[in-house]
Amino acid sequence: MSDGTILILGGTAEARALAGNLVSDGRQVVTSLAGRVKDPALPVGDVRIGGFGGVDGLATWLRDNNCEAVVDATHPFARQISANATAAAGDVDVPLLTLRRPEWRPQPGDRWIDVPAIADAARTVAAMAADNSTLRVFLTTGRQDVDVFADIADAWFLIRLVDPPERAVPRHHQIIRSRGPYTVDGELDLMREHKIDVVVTKNSGGPLVQSKLDAARQLSLPVVMVRRPAPAHGEAVDTASAAATWVRQLLS
Ligand code: NAP
Repeated sequence: MSDGTILILGGTAEARALAGNLVSDGRQVVTSLAGRVKDPALPVGDVRIGGFGGVDGLATWLRDNNCEAVVDATHPFARQISANATAAAGDVDVPLLTLRRPEWRPQPGDRWIDVPAIADAARTVAAMAADNSTLRVFLTTGRQDVDVFADIADAWFLIRLVDPPERAVPRHHQIIRSRGPYTVDGELDLMREHKIDVVVTKNSGGPLVQSKLDAARQLSLPVVMVRRPAPAHGEAVDTASAAATWVRQLLS
């Protein structure tokens, strides 16, 4: 077996699962985290935290660490790091795989309002608030996107976050700090307790936080669903086990 390093660009459950698979194989794995979350769930294997310093910094890291493969297992909405990974891996000629969990698809009974970007989600909510002076919104788009909704003063927001917000928040709100997974029953209770009228989410995909969609369907609530950005070019898989197979075949 080769003794080079495999870099996993992480921050997702899939990245942690992949690190577990490859460490079990006896491989040298480094998972990289951006450092956004104060108390992140850590994978097995080595972990480095913080940005690389753009494409050049990442390319230097790949060279200095005898990196044999990169798996970009970052969140589907983390665009910059994925673009950097494509450029840096190309520069130093290291094989790159993208691991992205499948996106959510609407099911019968869903009332999704599909929007192309987070700003469109805010415009949609603002239009709903203009029609409903007591609109109650469950905002689950994550800390980095809360400020986009900050100017909507005539709706009430239940904002669920892992860490407290760092930027502006809507005037009328309550913050719940928690980390998934969540159960459908728990989400039903939460939405009923707070008399939610609409759920706002990015199409992150994956089973861990899907229960909010199941609950919204059962309550017949609309869901403003932010579409994923276009995926990076190149080889891609959608499960950690498929990514582990790719690494094994590459380095066998
Ligand atoms: P982003 O906009 O794509 O990246 C911005 C910068 O953060 C990158 O240029 C890079 O800095 C640094 N960075 C991002 N991910 C990194 C990683 N895994 N390791 C080292 N540096 C990283 O990313 P983002 O949307 O802010 O997301 C940050 C991280 O949180 C990602 O790793 C992602 O997996 C995770 N996450 C994101 C979301 C989301 O909704 N965006 C949700 C859950 C988890 P340099 O240029 O200095 O290298």
